[in-house]
Amino acid sequence: RRRTIAMASPPPFLTSSQDSATKCEAPPALPTPIDQPATARKTRVVVLGSGWGAVSFIKNLDPAAFGENGAYELVLVSPRNYMLFTPLLPSAVGGVVSESSIVESIRTLMQGKFDFSVCVQGKYYEARATEIDPERRVLTCEVCAVRKSQGGSMGSQDHGEQDHTFQLPYDILLCSVGAVNATFGIKGVQEHCFFLKSMEDAQQLRRHISKTLEHAALPDISPENRKKKLSFVVVGGGPTGVEVAAELHDLIKEDVSRKFPSVAEDVSITLVDGTDSLLNSYHTEIQTYAGEVFRHNGISLRLGARVTEVQDGEVCVELKEGGRDSVSFGTCVWATGIAMHPLVALLKDRLPADVQTSCRGLLVDEHLRVRGSRGTIYCLGDAAVTGDTPATALPPTAQVARQEGQYLASLLSKNQLAVAEPAGTASEAADGTADADLVPLPAGTRPFGYTHLGSLAYLGDSKGAMDLPIKTPFLKTLRGYLGAQAWRTLETLLQVSPRTRWLVAHDWVRASVFGRNLSDI
Ligand code: FAD
Repeated sequence: RRRTIAMASPPPFLTSSQDSATKCEAPPALPTPIDQPATARKTRVVVLGSGWGAVSFIKNLDPAAFGENGAYELVLVSPRNYMLFTPLLPSAVGGVVSESSIVESIRTLMQGKFDFSVCVQGKYYEARATEIDPERRVLTCEVCAVRKSQGGSMGSQDHGEQDHTFQLPYDILLCSVGAVNATFGIKGVQEHCFFLKSMEDAQQLRRHISKTLEHAALPDISPENRKKKLSFVVVGGGPTGVEVAAELHDLIKEDVSRKFPSVAEDVSITLVDGTDSLLNSYHTEIQTYAGEVFRHNGISLRLGARVTEVQDGEVCVELKEGGRDSVSFGTCVWATGIAMHPLVALLKDRLPADVQTSCRGLLVDEHLRVRGSRGTIYCLGDAAVTGDTPATALPPTAQVARQEGQYLASLLSKNQLAVAEPAGTASEAADGTADADLVPLPAGTRPFGYTHLGSLAYLGDSKGAMDLPIKTPFLKTLRGYLGAQAWRTLETLLQVSPRTRWLVAHDWVRASVFGRNLSDI
């Protein structure tokens, strides 16, 4: 039930009523960009993804370059038609902020409406890239047909639409597809754990918590069963795991104790991590402080415990000091980091193996060009690996993705992103280095430089921590109530649009006055 539409270049811009990849008709067979002289048409920049890297890129582009007289055309492809503010996902799970408050429509962001950023003319296609052909410079994109949701009053209907694929040629490709959850191949993780990477994950977890509380309050549940149901285990002591445990603590302390008085005292929260401290990438004072806050809040810490298997209701661990143990759970949240995106893995397989040696993502050079791709593919965010060793690579954070997007936008605005010659004719570098097939960038193109602005974490009970790259001792590791207020203020100000900034600020006030959202809608 698949059909393929060859979407040749350049695609006639669809009229607004047709502005959807699901409706586009097969265009006449035009030559692909690599067959056409670059001067005859605009350079097509295709961006994959609508997350931190991609949005930072489009928000910082020079609109003149994409206007009627500009040299470029912009196409953004992503299966998600919104940008998600991931740092507040744990707060969405805890019901403090609403899910709709931390997402912004990609079309609004591309328009720049109500924002001080300027508008860039471009197209958005809601589709998932499934293949990248770096030789022909063509993407294969998959579109899921619009269906009535299963089980609705009209059953599951597809109105004759079918899943299909189309092809999209590009001149310059920006790959910002992020990463997927790392399970390290540990048995049982996929089957028994919740994740927290997407909005769907947050919604699923929030609803599950709500249902669990309601079921625990039923009259026919035994005390042992209730205790087991109300055992929350979080695996991973990084910022995501810590914030999930912190939000769960606040939810139980401030709302469940009032709304479910009969179950609140049976709730337990345990955080499991293979290392000896929480927030390992933060200053040691913050690591110690986070442990103190958690112990004070009654969150049990199982540190130095490496998970070997997850069974139904049981996390099996290997202890650092030797021996094995297990932690039982009613709900287990897996927050241990990220792994390579399948599309990135596919592309990596098509590039020279001696150049692409990382198992975490696509190795890029100092200008974020994918090594071995002739310089027509740029990669940023969680999908990119900067630096040849893990020690020199930048961390997979929103902060890095955002700065990388800004950097590439500035290169493009200055006309410094190279467009390779047709396949097979690229000038080979004589030095035989790994990047021999990269098309040279204009002289004086500055390399990407990352400026670390600091790290934040919410620890629960109105306490937070900030790890700032400054020398002033008090401010360097701002902790406690002030740390929480600084975290809250920054998470609000850093929202991607004035609308979400307004909604998030409103949500903090709403939650403190009326409580959290405990419904399972
Ligand atoms: P993403 O933001 O993940 O975006 C990937 C995009 O690619 C998505 O739009 C997706 O739909 C799209 N996509 C996926 N597959 C395809 C495909 N096949 N074709 C086309 N598009 C595709 N970082 C911080 O700096 N500070 C924090 O406080 C922080 N908190 C976090 C909390 C949580 C719960 C999580 C999960 C992450 C957090 N991070 C934080 C990390 C941060 O979210 C990531 O580093 C950042 O999102 C990476 O940006 P990206 O653009 O590479 O990927």
